[in-house]
Amino acid sequence: MPAQACYTCVMIDPFGRAISYLRVSVTDRCDLRCVYCMSEHMTFLPKSDMLTIEELVRVCSAFISKGVNRIRITGGEPLVRRNVLHLFEELGRKIGDGLSELTLTTNGTQLARFARPLWDAGVRRINVSLDSRDSELFAQITRWGELKKVMAGIDAAQNAGLKVKINMVALKGLNEHEIVPMMLWAHRRNMDLTLIETMPLGEIEEDRSSRFLPLSQVKADLSRQFTLASSVHRTGGPARYYDVGETGGRLGLITPLSHNFCETCNRVRLTCTGTLYMCLGQDDAADLRQPLRASNEDDLLLAAIDEAIERKPKGHDFVIDRTRRSPAVARHMSMTGG
Ligand code: SAM
Ligand code: SF4
Repeated sequence: MPAQACYTCVMIDPFGRAISYLRVSVTDRCDLRCVYCMSEHMTFLPKSDMLTIEELVRVCSAFISKGVNRIRITGGEPLVRRNVLHLFEELGRKIGDGLSELTLTTNGTQLARFARPLWDAGVRRINVSLDSRDSELFAQITRWGELKKVMAGIDAAQNAGLKVKINMVALKGLNEHEIVPMMLWAHRRNMDLTLIETMPLGEIEEDRSSRFLPLSQVKADLSRQFTLASSVHRTGGPARYYDVGETGGRLGLITPLSHNFCETCNRVRLTCTGTLYMCLGQDDAADLRQPLRASNEDDLLLAAIDEAIERKPKGHDFVIDRTRRSPAVARHMSMTGG
């Protein structure tokens, strides 16, 4: 039987955490090559290994039937996946029928044309990654990105009614001087800003430790200029929020390295090939593609999901260490989905 939405179901992992949030990386490909995320010459997964849009809908529906009520579509760059809108439309139909929210994380390059259809599909909130508002630095960080496309995307998203949050990876010696102007700009435009620490995921050209900027330090610096009050605001993600007195806006901090965010982890991550990672920072994974394709009924798939949740680890073991040459986890963030 295809899985039906269940309003009372809940998946509990071995550490008592309810798993209600699924992140889906719909492609590992991207139209940018951010220096901290990817190497310049990436080898992408073979297209033949990827789940079809229909298969992604089926896996997401199985998770909804198990109590997942929030899904974030990510990548790679999700908006470069062919026919991705169909996925949003199909999942959008489940909002109010098991799913309470469908969101997106994007680099914003394709948003100008996707903003309105995303709204029409039921998306109300998106995260746009933007590490610099200086077009030269933006091109340097993304290796070839055009800032104006992202800015046009953000305009289109706000005009369509989407609530936009800006994500910025804090990079020592690269964009740290832009943190305050970025926050002021975002808050002026009624957007929250979330800062992220760089995480040791996948081989890249440079040594990540040289760019690692602890957000504990950034917060201490910001506290000298602004009044930061701990906020009760939660989005279900790993950020801790602060209300900024002077701007009336919100600042989020994602600090996987300087503060472990695992105790309240409520999420699992599906790759575009149907591999389920129970933790962003661990290698253990479950193959859902095999049970998915083995039968048109969902029984095997649902059993594989249960078995995977029983193996969810307590947390990651990230360290950014100059003496360690290889990243903590070999796969890139673009594969598991940020
Ligand atoms: N392409 C989309 C984007 O950039 O928003 C979605 C995927 S991207 C992998 C999701 C988020 O992960 C982005 O905000 C990006 O800045 C962040 N990210 C990528 N690699 C990272 C790393 N090694 N450490 C910390 N954040 C990373
Ligand atoms: Fe692409 Fe996003 Fe990674 Fe940048 S962070 S290379 S936009 S997947």
